[in-house]
Amino acid sequence: MRDRVYRTEAVIIRRSDFGEADRLLTLITPLGKRRVVAKGARKTTSRLAGHIELFTHASLLLAVGRNLDIITQSMILHGFDQLRGDLRRIGAAYYAAELIDRLTEEDDENRPAFELLVTTLAALDISRNPDLALRFYELHLLGYLGYRPQLYHCAVCQEALTEEANRFSPAGGGALCPRCASTDRAAIPMSLPAFKLLRFLQAQPLDAIERLNISPAVRAEAEQLLRVYIRRILERDLKSVAFLEEVNSLTF
Ligand SMILES: [Zn+2]
Repeated sequence: MRDRVYRTEAVIIRRSDFGEADRLLTLITPLGKRRVVAKGARKTTSRLAGHIELFTHASLLLAVGRNLDIITQSMILHGFDQLRGDLRRIGAAYYAAELIDRLTEEDDENRPAFELLVTTLAALDISRNPDLALRFYELHLLGYLGYRPQLYHCAVCQEALTEEANRFSPAGGGALCPRCASTDRAAIPMSLPAFKLLRFLQAQPLDAIERLNISPAVRAEAEQLLRVYIRRILERDLKSVAFLEEVNSLTF
């Protein structure tokens, strides 16, 4: 039996109207994804309203409900205020939220995935390389959820990969050595700089992206490669991809 009231950290990844004045929230918590209700949160007098914004990292007090648990208190830990004023950054946050939403089931406990989401939102808030923060997030989230792309060993024969590798197989789940390159006709050509970037992001901590100076072409290639791989896992594109592409094509 769970306690009637419990406290958890959470990131709010989805929000919709519910009933007369309530909001239905989707949370990512260390205990997994959870759908909860914020009662009366659409009333102007609600004390909760300002504390349950999308993408907020909060400490929540919840009461166990018959179907959905109910938020009774919220204390903001990180508001990530800067990303809200920047279309590219907010687009990336929508994408990060949608990706974890689509890849996880409710109540699948995964603390590393939760912590990754928090650190990624922090990077999307202030990093000079928000797109690389998103690539880092994709690579590591896929890893935590059992879809780690193989970038150090051939996805077919498991042989250690050298810089000669120049094909990525979405179906095989990673890069291919030259001998196995022809085993998947749908494998994507991969340049050495893009291969190196992906390997770097998979092996280094998130803050290492601040040191990187990567050309737009290589950034675009790495993005496309992971997009094809993720599309194969989810069997379709995420809705936020179209928005992200639109804002990225704008010149500011
Ligand atoms: Zn091989």
